[in-house]
Amino acid sequence: MTEPFIEDDMTRAKRGISWVRLEEALRGTGCPVCSQIERTEQHYLEGLLYEYVLDVGVRKKLHRQHGFCTRHAKLALMAEVKLGSDGLHLATMFETVLEENIALLGQQVKLIEEIAAETNKRKKKKTVRSVDAGKCFVCDFVKNAEEITLHSLLYLSDDDELIAEYKDSKTLICFRHVQMLAKEKASPRLLHATIEKVKKMKNDVSNFIMKHDYQGAHDYTRYELDSYLDAVNLFSGQMRW
Ligand SMILES: [Zn+2]
Ligand SMILES: [Zn+2]
Repeated sequence: MTEPFIEDDMTRAKRGISWVRLEEALRGTGCPVCSQIERTEQHYLEGLLYEYVLDVGVRKKLHRQHGFCTRHAKLALMAEVKLGSDGLHLATMFETVLEENIALLGQQVKLIEEIAAETNKRKKKKTVRSVDAGKCFVCDFVKNAEEITLHSLLYLSDDDELIAEYKDSKTLICFRHVQMLAKEKASPRLLHATIEKVKKMKNDVSNFIMKHDYQGAHDYTRYELDSYLDAVNLFSGQMRW
């Protein structure tokens, strides 16, 4: 009689969508967490432009926060271009938001004028409420996507296959995400693999600087020439907000 096949948690996790996405990210470049979040973010924005008119929930969120933050306004524009639209999605989306913006600013100006007319003693007590435009509801969605991605990486961080793929890949977990993983006590093997990659990068940076000292001996390798960009990218991660 054959033993019944019992699928353990790790096998199940590796058959899931998170593993597929992680593997996909490891085949690319940059930080595998950042690149995965960026893909999710773009996908979400494109879906949003399509579904906005029909989705009451999305409309409420957009209006509650008076539009998008700087990053997501720029990305929304890119998503509209990618959809090949003449701008109708965004126009529909922003028509009401603009009306609300006018109303909000109108109320604020009215209050500022009222305060200006008050006596000095009462002036100090009155404040003008403003909207925090540094974040928007897409930021909330992205933050959630980041947590999910980090959680799956954390769960798989001691897996032989993942470690091997990470070592061989052109990716490097960015400083922000490696710090989040360290805080959650990720597998030392994943962190060691990251240290090795950073060491290699540091050598390339040192060689790049050193070779500047030799007159005419500028035989830089491709990695040395790109080393300063790689070093900056370790920190930029492209997913800061
Ligand atoms: Zn990252
Ligand atoms: Zn945002």
